[in-house]
Amino acid sequence: MKIGFLGLGNMGMPIADHLLRAKHDLIVWNRSARKAQPLIDAGALQAKTPREAAAGADIVFSMLADDAALEEVLCGKEGLSAGLRRNALHVSLSTISVAAAKHAARRHADSGQRFVAAPVIGRPEAAAAAKLSVLAGGAPEDIEYATPALSAFSQRVFHIGEKPESASLVKLCCNFMILAAIESMSEALTLAEKGGVPRAKLLEVLTGTLFDAAVFRTYGPIVAEGKFRPAGFAATLGLKDMRLVSQAAEAERVPMPLLSLLRDHLLQTIATEGEDIDWSAIGKAVARNAGL
Ligand code: NAP
Repeated sequence: MKIGFLGLGNMGMPIADHLLRAKHDLIVWNRSARKAQPLIDAGALQAKTPREAAAGADIVFSMLADDAALEEVLCGKEGLSAGLRRNALHVSLSTISVAAAKHAARRHADSGQRFVAAPVIGRPEAAAAAKLSVLAGGAPEDIEYATPALSAFSQRVFHIGEKPESASLVKLCCNFMILAAIESMSEALTLAEKGGVPRAKLLEVLTGTLFDAAVFRTYGPIVAEGKFRPAGFAATLGLKDMRLVSQAAEAERVPMPLLSLLRDHLLQTIATEGEDIDWSAIGKAVARNAGL
């Protein structure tokens, strides 16, 4: 399959690498062109613009930071939409807003192109191990068409529904719950530590009993050991996601009081620690508030 790939950040790079290893013809583009070098060395082609990466591709994947990045890459004379041929497919892997997914779907439909929103669950390590979970929203035949390529970097593809924006909403719900889990775990670990029980001991009990879930197994050691740098998922991206959850909640008239607390702890973390820190460093804010 001829595949264009846009966005070679922490997530995009390992995903594109898997597509190349799966013997797809890969042409990549990244705003900072130098980041593409390892893939070029491994046999990918490099495009000068999103338009060039999309021209001739059967599928174009994008893995960009946020709504604004997608808009910039999608539109304009040198944009993805200008290069994608009729009936070709754009699969957006980024975590974007419900509104942005709707907008991208409409824009592609107006140009006779196909669109699937397919945000992913899993950090860069899961991407490197081809163990992401894909939440796909779009026409079933388009998701089927993309599935062999999606399988190169994921362990499961969930069909969320025919509307691309439903996949964005599910992804935002998941990220809200991940951060809520990190917050509750951080509070419990802090309490244990202040009460004289090692963090590792509480974690052993949690993951060995009722809390034997990937979210606690993944984030537990990070929070317990305070390994928040380098950021696998940057606190600024987490803040973006909590903002998108808030927009969706407001649109649907759903009060989410816990969301406000999570957002504030992320803001506190970014304000005191800077932007180059993992979102799970809200655990630091929790510990500091307890005088640790
Ligand atoms: P990242 O490392 O910060 O990479 C962001 C990518 O977006 C880079 O390729 C960057 O280009 C590009 N970009 C940013 N602004 C742009 C703009 N205005 N125009 C063009 N390109 C732009 O982020 P990431 O961790 O890979 O995350 C990517 C997406 O996946 C985000 O939506 C994130 O929420 C989601 N996600 C992340 C994780 C995770 O654990 N990291 C997990 C699941 C989902 P440059 O290289 O030029 O900066």
